[in-house]
Amino acid sequence: MQPLSRGATGSAVAEVRRMLASLGLLGNNDPRSSDVFDDATELAVRHFQQRRGISVDGVVGPETFAGLTDAHWRLGDRVLAHIPGQLMVGDDVVELQNQLLELGYNLGRPDGVFGATTAEATRAFQRDYGLVADGICGPGVLRALRQLGRRVVGGRPQMLRELAAVSASGPNLLGKRLVIDPGHGGDDPGTTVGDVTEADLTWDLAKRLEGRLSALGVRSSLTRGPHNGATDEARAAFANEVGADIVLSLHVDGFSSPRANGLATYFFEGGETSSTIGERLADLVQRELVARTGLLDARVHGKSWTMLRLTRMPAVRVELGYLTSADDYARLVDPQFRDTVAEGLLVAVQRLYLPTADDPPTGVMRIPAVAS
Ligand SMILES: [Zn+2]
Repeated sequence: MQPLSRGATGSAVAEVRRMLASLGLLGNNDPRSSDVFDDATELAVRHFQQRRGISVDGVVGPETFAGLTDAHWRLGDRVLAHIPGQLMVGDDVVELQNQLLELGYNLGRPDGVFGATTAEATRAFQRDYGLVADGICGPGVLRALRQLGRRVVGGRPQMLRELAAVSASGPNLLGKRLVIDPGHGGDDPGTTVGDVTEADLTWDLAKRLEGRLSALGVRSSLTRGPHNGATDEARAAFANEVGADIVLSLHVDGFSSPRANGLATYFFEGGETSSTIGERLADLVQRELVARTGLLDARVHGKSWTMLRLTRMPAVRVELGYLTSADDYARLVDPQFRDTVAEGLLVAVQRLYLPTADDPPTGVMRIPAVAS
């Protein structure tokens, strides 16, 4: 194509202006100048180039034109598929890639190109959700993504209904058994600041999570009571005995410096081995909690701690902020914050089960009954 710059006119200019306007870069313009490359057009082109990392010259050459074409696609505008030799490119692909990544499908960095990796991730998603696994992002995939998207960003009151909707589209938590491990207890209060103890906080969190799980018909057990403690060996043995599917160990951190703060989640890693599902769960927990609480993201780490090593199922340990940090302390003593944490943990666990196992649909039907 001929590069278009200020002063140019014609249908190509009109097309460029239309694309700029659809991106919100060109405001209401005079229809008489709709095919004129005027000052406003040049400014919009410069903005676009800057935003996209194209060299900013205000001229629409091949690269800028291709960028404009890619940018105007929104997820759902067209069916996306892997066509070798003629790869589909666009911002709708970026949107799809981001959503698949968010759900835990590994496809590297979102690059806006629907290549073999994106097709494979789409296929995996389809398999997990009981859709035809053709690797094509059409109406079925879009519908499934929409249902999940609402749940992920949705408000609290809709929680149960949304979980029910999601469960109807895939495997779920019902029939699973969770062991919740409130850290410390009894003679061991854990980190203590004033009269606030880690043992009391983890107990309170465990009860909140247990309540939410039972409202959904999910079985859970706690590794200790409100006033007693147990060794980590005993807690791990308990989880093994009851045949837990998952162990969530809850702790609150403490440090000599009041500046230490933030949230970290740990999974089993020792020597040559590590728990893949444990790591995935740790990742989901960390992401859900960071997004919901505003705690500093101190990331996910592999450890060979007793509770992680001796349990035979995926186990993660969450260190929910530092009681010794004034900011984290203020959050932890707020019951609403602890509700938010319980909710985040529940969603993380639910998300772990979405893309795996294939529970019978009879289990799925029970959620609306429980929720009503
Ligand atoms: Zn602790």
